[in-house]
Amino acid sequence: MVGRLAGRRAIVTGAASGIGLATALLFLSEGASVLGVDLPGDRLGAALGNTAVHTLGVSVTDDDAPQRIVDAAMQHLGGIDIVFNNAGVVHNCLMERMSDDEWDGVLDVNLRSIFRVTRACVPALKQSGHGRIINTASVMAEATGMGMAAYSASKAAVLGLTMNMAVELGKFGVTANAILPGAIWTGMTSNMWEERPDIADAWAKKTTLRRLGQPDDIARVALFLASDDGGYMTGQGLTVDGGLTAKLGG
Ligand code: NAD
Repeated sequence: MVGRLAGRRAIVTGAASGIGLATALLFLSEGASVLGVDLPGDRLGAALGNTAVHTLGVSVTDDDAPQRIVDAAMQHLGGIDIVFNNAGVVHNCLMERMSDDEWDGVLDVNLRSIFRVTRACVPALKQSGHGRIINTASVMAEATGMGMAAYSASKAAVLGLTMNMAVELGKFGVTANAILPGAIWTGMTSNMWEERPDIADAWAKKTTLRRLGQPDDIARVALFLASDDGGYMTGQGLTVDGGLTAKLGG
């Protein structure tokens, strides 16, 4: 099949919704074989059941998740060239009120699972010859807001982890980069923004492009990083935010 990812084998986590869903479908349309991973339940099948994307329902935080993901990739894809660590959660709570469990819950999904899943994929990525690790961070890695202590800490750490992956795996031809999305209309944000259109509008106006991002805006950058076009880029964070963080004032 002709496409920018022809013959490549990709794992996408958080594939039932938002950025992960858009990316799984884009990778598929560009010729990759894809394993979409998300929480067990109906959402994964409802999102991807009619497509050629293989699916695995597992929490990325489960002890055996990394091995199950690698096993499923080997079974369905026959190897691993691309790992898109994208599953994520947000928990809005002031730092002084946050419990240990709330903190751990966010860090477990957003950070620890990326370390554990990628570690399990490293042997296959080394064999790939064009291995790609793409981690979803956030503009909240470099700035923050009220109630975002655990989220911002997790996303800042994803940047550090991504740089380390790039340094340690570069000699095997494996790249590692992070994407820092801005305000994107997805499952994570849509409930709040539908309830409070004024807040959605305020975020849109904060960007220089005067609009919220869509999942495809991020998926297309993931495609660039996953494809040969991104082959000499590694250890970087790409901010994709419609100019949100470039702008001071109105
Ligand atoms: P989303 O809620 O639409 O998608 C996230 C997916 O991750 C969901 O399908 C969810 O079920 C899955 N997930 C959550 N915990 C999981 C677990 N333990 N195991 C497996 N899957 C799990 O939201 P999204 O905005 O598409 O989020 C994708 C990534 O983008 C996240 O890492 C998020 O932090 C990041 N991000 C989003 C925005 C935004 O404005 N939407 C901005 C910056 C960064």
